[in-house]
Amino acid sequence: MDTVSVRCCIAGAGPAGVILGLLLSRAGVEVLVLEKHADFLRDFRGDTIHPSTLEVMYELGLLEELLLLPHQKVSQINAQFGDLALTVADFNHLQTRCHFVVLMPQWDFLNFLTLEAARYPTFHLRMQAEVTGLIEEKERVVGLNAISSGGTIGGTYKSGCGSRWMALSCPDPGLT
Ligand SMILES: Cc1cc2nc3c(=O)[nH]c(=O)nc-3n(C[C@H](O)[C@H](O)[C@H](O)COP(=O)(O)OP(=O)(O)OC[C@H]3O[C@@H](n4cnc5c(N)ncnc54)[C@H](O)[C@@H]3O)c2cc1C
Repeated sequence: MDTVSVRCCIAGAGPAGVILGLLLSRAGVEVLVLEKHADFLRDFRGDTIHPSTLEVMYELGLLEELLLLPHQKVSQINAQFGDLALTVADFNHLQTRCHFVVLMPQWDFLNFLTLEAARYPTFHLRMQAEVTGLIEEKERVVGLNAISSGGTIGGTYKSGCGSRWMALSCPDPGLT
């Protein structure tokens, strides 16, 4: 069994896990993100990035670079029912930097975020690594187990946090 020592381990490289990994690694926290799939292809999902998400990208200083990727912008959604023309949504009045929804495949977005995060030496992503369970001691989560294509990963936090989510994502000192 391969034992990995990191300050923080995140299960799942979806938008939440990747952004959390990015934020923590930017703050200098050693992070390992484990993703059970081999890639980010989830083509059952929609491809819209909403103005509020774009605002977060702006706040992180990533908006300009993100918008260099191929995408389409939608600032208004209109519908026609016979002779009746309706504006169903209008993003022009939003109090955000971007007055549009971006159409971009989610895997492009996730690839972009992981590439950005990978600029930090404290960020580590392991694909094809499935978390199989938590390690608990005295009713406290102290680590997790995972199976990866390269073998089994196991780890134990030296100190834990109150909740499962925090235990998987908080910057507690070391897996051993
Ligand atoms: C049909 C559909 C369409 C959608 N369209 C849009 C849209 O157009 N725009 C939008 O903003 N949002 C959309 N959403 C919502 C959006 O996809 C979610 O809000 C978002 O994916 C949640 O991110 P997350 O990181 O919390 O979870 P997820 O995206 O579900 O990420 C979880 C990740 O964890 C991995 N994982 C799960 N279990 C394990 C394990 N045991 N070990 C390791 N890895 C694991 C999964 O493979 C996955 O990559 C849509 C959702 C659905 C279902």
